[in-house]
Amino acid sequence: MPLETTLILFKPDAVAKNLVGTVLARFEKEGFKIRGLKMMKLSDEILAEHYSHIADKPFFPDVRGFMQETPVIALALEGEDIIAKVRDLLGPTDSKTAAPGTIRGDFGDKTGESKMRNICHASDSPEAAAAEINRFFAPGEVF
Ligand code: ADP
Repeated sequence: MPLETTLILFKPDAVAKNLVGTVLARFEKEGFKIRGLKMMKLSDEILAEHYSHIADKPFFPDVRGFMQETPVIALALEGEDIIAKVRDLLGPTDSKTAAPGTIRGDFGDKTGESKMRNICHASDSPEAAAAEINRFFAPGEVF
């Protein structure tokens, strides 16, 4: 299995609900290794780049506003086959349809904003992970 590094963002709902440690503990329990960790405010520019695949959707302005409610915490995390494994640990985008035991199923919004307030972002492919790590971390910030 390939040793990969994925990019995770603890979104403002995770930060506001004091869930960062709880979710990070789930990742550490899997044996994944922290390679980079930082708190940062996301500008309109970085969000337009990061969410370019949804920029033309009617809900994009809401997502941008949500991602700017608080600073986020960016995490570069390493492990075997980690990109797919973290996506499985998260569950689907819509927290309401995410199974209990998944991060989004356990902690995501279960009301009208379940598709948006879903605790974490995680890279969905090796190509996306490489681009996203470059986007959120300077070279000297990943160890
Ligand atoms: P994922 O983060 O699961 O890979 P997408 O890349 O499709 O999902 O969407 C990026 C983010 O945009 C989601 O995590 C979520 O916060 C938000 N989002 C996606 N679809 C919707 C929607 N229909 N309504 C509101 N927000 C959405």
